[in-house]
Order: sequence, then C-alpha cells, then structure tokens
Amino acid sequence: MEIFAIGFLFVVGMVFGSFFNVVGLRLPKGIPFSNDRSICPVCRHQLSWYELIPVVSYLIQGGKCRHCAEKISFIYPFMELLTGFLFSYSYVQLGFTLELIKALLLISLSMILVVSDIKYMIIPNKVLLFFLPFFIVLNIFRPIEPWWSPIAGAVVGFSMIALIIIVSRGGMGAGDMKLFGLLGLVLGLPKVLLTFFIACLLGSVFGIFFMLIGIIKRKQPVPFGPYIIIATLITYFFSDPILHFYFSLI
Ligand SMILES: [Zn+2]
Repeated sequence: MEIFAIGFLFVVGMVFGSFFNVVGLRLPKGIPFSNDRSICPVCRHQLSWYELIPVVSYLIQGGKCRHCAEKISFIYPFMELLTGFLFSYSYVQLGFTLELIKALLLISLSMILVVSDIKYMIIPNKVLLFFLPFFIVLNIFRPIEPWWSPIAGAVVGFSMIALIIIVSRGGMGAGDMKLFGLLGLVLGLPKVLLTFFIACLLGSVFGIFFMLIGIIKRKQPVPFGPYIIIATLITYFFSDPILHFYFSLI
C-alpha cells in the first residue's frame, strides 16, 4: 500500500513539476498558461499530448524537439523529477497529514520561483500572493508553537532583507524581501533566521565556485532566489537535526 502512495505522489509531483515549469516561465511575461497549449520556442510547433509527458517524452525524443531537432533544456525534466522526488519524500516523512499539504504547497511555491528567478531574475508578486492565503489558513488549523512565531517570523524576515537592501543599496531585491516575509510566516521565527544563514552560506560558496569556473563574472547580478529556496527546503525538512548538531558542538 505504502509503495503505491509513494509512487502516486511521485507521478503527481512530476505532472505538477511540468506545470510549474510553464507557470514560472510564462507568468512573469504575462503569457496565459491555462488555456494555451505548449509550443516549441524555436519552431513554434504546437506540442501534442504525447510530447508533454513529464520526463518520458524528453527521454524518448532524446532531449530534442521532434520537428526542428532543437535541443530541449535538461532543466525541464530535471525540475519534473525533482518535484516528483520532493512530493514523494514529503509523504514518506509526513504521511497523509495536514503537514503534508503544507509541505506540498511549499515545494510548489519553491519550484515556480526557482524557474522564474533563474530565467528572469524575478520573484513574481502574483505567485507569493497566490500562496499566502493557503499558508495563513494552514497556520490557523495547524498552528506553529508559540502562536506569535509565524507573525514574528514574517516581520523579522521582511525587515531583515529591507535593511540589507538599504545598507547594500540593491544587494538584494524587493522580491527577496517579500519572499522572506512569506517564509517567516511559513517557518516561524527561529527557522527563518536559519534559512537566511544557510542561503547566504550557499550563495557565497556557489558564487565563488561559479566565478572560479567562469560561469559568472565579478559584479554580475545573480539571482539569489534559488539559494533562498534550497535553504528553505533544507530548513523545512532538516532543521531539527541541524540545530541538534549545532548545539552539540557548543
Ligand atoms: Zn521545434
């Protein structure tokens, strides 16, 4: 029974992952994504249903468009697989609980933001505003202890980045600030700080690495959103062992 539930969430995750790719790419440009079939961005051929099966179509077509043979970015199947993995992993960790809904919503938000931030360096307001009411309702039905933790988390998360924007004159964007406000609400006060710390750590390590191998240049603006997102998921799933390890050291 268990293996069916895990497999089911994996498939559902891949289908949603495919949808999140589309939302992340189209929403910042104002292209409707609900009533419009996907097309190949190069030859503009409209894709049939059998060209839109997550991961499978990519593998069968050898990573190329069936019509113009243009290479399809591996980002698409990667995001689909990652979403499938994270959906099923959440179920393994949480079972069929209210917390599972929160985890799936957080993963969905994350996947859309990673796509739009990498592609356009934009964290769309519409995406944050869409998810906000769900997290507020979940906080009511499944409160984080103590009760003020999400409110304090939202205030601290938002103001912390606002301060960085003022001091660094644009080191981070308004999108990062609003995202941290939302994350504070989702994770609560101590964990939003841990998320910020991990995001800065990842940003510095990978930033230096990408500079060394020549992918990015000095002073080139880079999206910080993906680091925030990875840090959020690490904090959400592993904050207890991380904090336990930390306190065992001091
Ligand atoms: Zn094509």
